[in-house]
Amino acid sequence: MGQYKLGNKSLKELTGVHQDLVAVVSRTIELTVQDFAVHDGIRTLEEQRRLVASGASQTLDSRHITGHAVDLVPYINNKLRWEWELIYKIADAVRAAAKELGTPIRWGGAWDLTLTDTDDATEDLVADYSARRRQAGKKAFIDGPHFELPKMLYP
Ligand SMILES: [Zn+2]
Repeated sequence: MGQYKLGNKSLKELTGVHQDLVAVVSRTIELTVQDFAVHDGIRTLEEQRRLVASGASQTLDSRHITGHAVDLVPYINNKLRWEWELIYKIADAVRAAAKELGTPIRWGGAWDLTLTDTDDATEDLVADYSARRRQAGKKAFIDGPHFELPKMLYP
């Protein structure tokens, strides 16, 4: 057993989320060296509309609405902390947990690949993804706490 446990609020956020993703999150909390909270699991279309309007999300076709995505946010002293050095540690733990369970995971830090298909440092994945987007003349929308089941395998 690891040093962290999912809190009641995190468990509540996982209600309605696909069981394969719940299994990954449950294993991740055992492996992680950085505590996290499940900040967002399932979302209603109305919640998603508000996030798009505020610029926090780019699409109404979110994997959160269908229960195929979670946001895992670093949690220290009862506070959520959106900090990259902490987020990388969580992404490492998610990848280790997902590989162990054989569940493919797509990460908001590098949308154009499957996190579980690579062993590159999570920090490098974000830098490389941003570079690819820049090269293509596009903006990189990076969402480090976001993890989802790939749509191709989980429609
Ligand atoms: Zn998300």
